[in-house]
Amino acid sequence: MSSKKENGSNGSKRKLVELDEETLNSGAEGFTASQVFVKNPACVAYTYDDLIMMPGHIHFGVGDVDISSNFTRNIRLNAPFVSSPMDTVTEHQMAITMALQGGIGIIHSNLSIEEQAAEVRIVKKFKNGFILDPVCLGPESTAADVLKIKRQKGFSSFPITDNGKIGGRLMGIISNRDTAFIEDRKAKVKEFMTPREKLVVAKDGVSLQEANEILKTSKKGKLPVVNENDEIVALIARTDLQKNRDNPLASKDKVNKQLLVGAAIGTRPTDRDRAAALVEAGVNVIIIDSSQGDSVYQIEMVQYLKEKYPDVDIIAGNVVTPSQANRLIQAGADGLRVGMGIGSICTTQEVCAVGRAQASAVYHVAKFAKKFGVPIIADGGVKSTGHITKALCLGAGSVMMGSMVAGTDESPGEYFYQDGVRLKRYRGMGSVEAMDAGGDKRYVWDDMTTKVKVAQGVSGAVQDKGTLRRYIPYLMQGVGHGLQDAGIKSVAEAHEKLYSDKLRFEIRSPAAQKEGSVHGLHSYQKRLY
Ligand code: GDP
Ligand code: 5GP
Repeated sequence: MSSKKENGSNGSKRKLVELDEETLNSGAEGFTASQVFVKNPACVAYTYDDLIMMPGHIHFGVGDVDISSNFTRNIRLNAPFVSSPMDTVTEHQMAITMALQGGIGIIHSNLSIEEQAAEVRIVKKFKNGFILDPVCLGPESTAADVLKIKRQKGFSSFPITDNGKIGGRLMGIISNRDTAFIEDRKAKVKEFMTPREKLVVAKDGVSLQEANEILKTSKKGKLPVVNENDEIVALIARTDLQKNRDNPLASKDKVNKQLLVGAAIGTRPTDRDRAAALVEAGVNVIIIDSSQGDSVYQIEMVQYLKEKYPDVDIIAGNVVTPSQANRLIQAGADGLRVGMGIGSICTTQEVCAVGRAQASAVYHVAKFAKKFGVPIIADGGVKSTGHITKALCLGAGSVMMGSMVAGTDESPGEYFYQDGVRLKRYRGMGSVEAMDAGGDKRYVWDDMTTKVKVAQGVSGAVQDKGTLRRYIPYLMQGVGHGLQDAGIKSVAEAHEKLYSDKLRFEIRSPAAQKEGSVHGLHSYQKRLY
């Protein structure tokens, strides 16, 4: 690759000569994406592990790398990471944490319409800093009740109201300090709560900034918000205000500053009601969840949603070819999900004989969709930060992950131990188990003709990864290092270099792939960060 930069050691400046055309075109500098994917005489499709990128010239620090990128026509993410709409991956806790870190979560649809809309509502409420439905207790509740809820919910402060509910008259508050030394589990809350007259409260209508000031001066951890009748309408936690301050990259609505969230729907007539409830709950983006998106059902759904909810971005898919993408783009899609049969839990290619290796799918669809200004989401098959970097460098705007973010504190489900290893369940939405719970809408379009549900996924488990609050920064830093090594300062620059043939790749032989991963050791421990 050519290098124009003037170089200098011991103060003198030498002008670097450009590489001659022959060297450039000989393969010595790797190959352009179009040589790899388009002029492809062997008709081979490639995936992330087949490819390796050539290094570029580093003239900036890793902290200067900008990984922000377009997720849809109208949504840009500071961290181009999306958690998949799967019932073992994304519910509100995952979506909140993804959005706080600059990504976005897509709430799965193996839930009733009301439940899914409620999940969206919880995410939308979060960043406001106001807990609008705090768990309250009544004065007659016992220490045992408090401990039980504390164990279930993970927090330890509860407003006490006359009727034990939000909206009741505030009588006191229970926090860790009040319960720490209670030995009698039958003791009533009214005997050990901090009573109303000792509480610092805010009046309904208080702004977050004012609340922050009150918490700062009073040095309290919780601030109940009450109306003129002294009935509790919300609770503010100091930890949330700190979280707001600590998440400068958060994905937020420009107008109301709420966290961004997406939700999945299917293509059946009832999914129109689902979409209505999700929009009502404040969803920012709807994903039409189908393993093969090129269907009349999906085209009709995209057209319907775009006409009815022009302000909500619609992501269609999944697709792996430009012709599939074309029909969905013409129908009005604001983003496309790319990937078929390549997810870690997926058996589609085996069962249905249809699909495409993911690097080829991402490159071809992204290149086509770019002409229409439609970003693509590389969905599935991501196993490392290197895969994410490759997806972005092949034209993806963002990367959707299932297994990578499953098994975190924020994914649904409980941890369990197997052979001494801490695990969480992770299952394909096309597994028999998930289909029985409602996931079949992604794999079966037509109720009338389908008598047997054919599984296109498996059910398994993944190892505990801890909290996303540490894992996402690791992913971001890893991608930053990857782009830096390739001499690329931003995702936009990666795309520019991809399409101007400045980004170079090579296909790795099986031996080269082996060489490129840990080898030759008797044993080793792999710590990611
Ligand atoms: P606590 O002092 O143990 O109650 O907990 P923290 O203030 O450290 O953290 C509580 C977290 O749980 C905050 O992020 C809250 O926004 C969140 N949360 C969600 N719902 C509730 C609720 O009903 N009550 C309380 N106390 N926290 C809640
Ligand atoms: P992963 O990140 O685990 O490799 O893949 C996650 C992606 O696999 C999801 O976003 C979704 O597109 C796809 N997927 C989820 N469940 C199934 C399934 O049961 N079968 C198939 N074919 N794909 C699935």
